[in-house]
Amino acid sequence: MTKEEKGTGGEAKLSAPAVKKKKSAAGKKPVKKTVKKQKKKPEYRDIGIDVSPPKRACNDPNCPFHGRLSVRGQIFEGRVERNKMEGTAVIEVERLHYVKKFERYERRYKKFSAHVPPCMKIKAGDEVKIMECRPLSKTVSFVVVEVKE
Ligand SMILES: [Zn+2]
Repeated sequence: MTKEEKGTGGEAKLSAPAVKKKKSAAGKKPVKKTVKKQKKKPEYRDIGIDVSPPKRACNDPNCPFHGRLSVRGQIFEGRVERNKMEGTAVIEVERLHYVKKFERYERRYKKFSAHVPPCMKIKAGDEVKIMECRPLSKTVSFVVVEVKE
């Protein structure tokens, strides 16, 4: 009794998905083409702030994501003004200064020299986020941590 029941049950189970498979296979044919191979993401360090990590990897020791450079202190958002030095860019940061007499704000700018790790691809005009780090040279104590797209 039990064997027969199991057998019939098994048959029913087998037959049911078989029918479904045919249907699904026919329906999924165009869908299968769109399935992409997922690329392995490069490993990076958690630098402690909420930024999107770089898509590429690098082996720069002064990279906060792939090297040993720790970032702390101030964070600014600015625009790449010049990117002609090797591994360093000039970032212009805008801020608003209140003028009491006129009860209005005026724009003030400051330029920072910031280290650019090789994993960050930047060009003049890009919006970037820079964060303070230890002094890397006489004038550089910031590093680019995010390039906005
Ligand atoms: Zn890097």
